[in-house]
Amino acid sequence: MKKNLVLIGGGHAHMVTLANLHAFIEKGFGVTVIQPSEYHYYSGMGPGMLGGTYKPDDIRFATRRLVEAKGGRFVLGRAYRVDPGKQLVHLEGTNNAIPYDILSCNAGSFVPRGMIQGENRNIFTAKPIEELLVAQERILELAVAGRITVAVIGSGPSSIEISGNVHQLCRERKVVMPRIQLYGGRRFLSGRPERVRRLARTILEHKGIEILETGYVRQIESGRIILENGQECQADIIFPAVGVKPSPIFARSGLPTGPDGGLRVNEYLQSVGYTNIFGGGDCIYFEAEPLDKVGVYAVRQNPVLYKNLMAGLEDRPLEKFQPGGTYLLIYNLGDGDGILSKWSITFAGKFAFRIKDRIDRRFIRTFQEI
Ligand SMILES: Cc1cc2nc3c(=O)[nH]c(=O)nc-3n(C[C@H](O)[C@H](O)[C@H](O)COP(=O)(O)OP(=O)(O)OC[C@H]3O[C@@H](n4cnc5c(N)ncnc54)[C@H](O)[C@@H]3O)c2cc1C
Repeated sequence: MKKNLVLIGGGHAHMVTLANLHAFIEKGFGVTVIQPSEYHYYSGMGPGMLGGTYKPDDIRFATRRLVEAKGGRFVLGRAYRVDPGKQLVHLEGTNNAIPYDILSCNAGSFVPRGMIQGENRNIFTAKPIEELLVAQERILELAVAGRITVAVIGSGPSSIEISGNVHQLCRERKVVMPRIQLYGGRRFLSGRPERVRRLARTILEHKGIEILETGYVRQIESGRIILENGQECQADIIFPAVGVKPSPIFARSGLPTGPDGGLRVNEYLQSVGYTNIFGGGDCIYFEAEPLDKVGVYAVRQNPVLYKNLMAGLEDRPLEKFQPGGTYLLIYNLGDGDGILSKWSITFAGKFAFRIKDRIDRRFIRTFQEI
């Protein structure tokens, strides 16, 4: 009987596998891809979509179309739990279970919603990226009528990118410019290089964005933010951008996980508990060297994951993944402003954004054209 490869999520680490899906089919293997949306959004361009630089079609891959065109089966749904003993993937909200011989997980990460209470029509997490599109519509709807307050909670790259792109959106659409407040905990962009912090502050403050360093946010409700010291603040739109956690599928399935709940994998990107389960991207915990949750690693994992999935199906030796050295970071702060940082090189300006725009467009085009 033919062996089945099942992919959970068509994320950044599965791009090469998806592009070569026909190779599995030609060898007689079945391939099923499970994803909650027919599209996969490229997160690096998400804030740019919020700001209006990109349209949704510019930043997404038509996963379903690609899978079906290459002879695979696409299942619109959300993997809920893996039963490694029976080799089944259970889907959320149905009794359906999908059998696998080899399983590969690229289900990404999510923004924890623990601090959000009650009704949340005007609260938008930084992930899934599709949320940013809904947020865009809502901001424009409210800001056309008067001055609103937009609060961005978090002090990492996604919070500065979201703040800057809300500014760009409102400037370009000529609505009333909101009061934009970035709740940066006790120290804005803490843990980032000093020069990056300084440049980001200068650029954001120049746009009129307020950077608050009065403490961490404890709770968010519709229209209300409560800080750890009990202080309450008002906001019409709130973006919790407080960092991400790996998909909860693995902990729920009793698979070996890392401290963050990510699928614990060895240097072959293979589960340390089950040799027929692999993974890549934000949802894994790479045991040899815990990796930052950045798309760069997911992209670097692509060729190894593809080769190892094929090798797993054909009972051949696996290849090791080498994370590689320092990576280039470029932040999109809206209005064409960027900050580029790698090694000791850090600079800001339009040129930095143009480099990011070029790299991102080239990356997405490569896979969109398959
Ligand atoms: C606003 C923002 C901006 C960022 N900018 C950058 C940047 O410029 N450069 C950079 O390197 N990194 C950036 N990152 C980090 C980057 O987003 C992640 O590291 C990257 O998305 C990881 O890719 P992934 O494929 O593992 O996960 P994801 O991109 O989250 O993809 C996961 C896929 O799995 C699917 N999925 C989710 N749950 C399930 C399920 N239960 N069952 C089946 N499928 C599922 C999703 O629909 C999605 O298609 C940014 C992050 C954010 C939030």
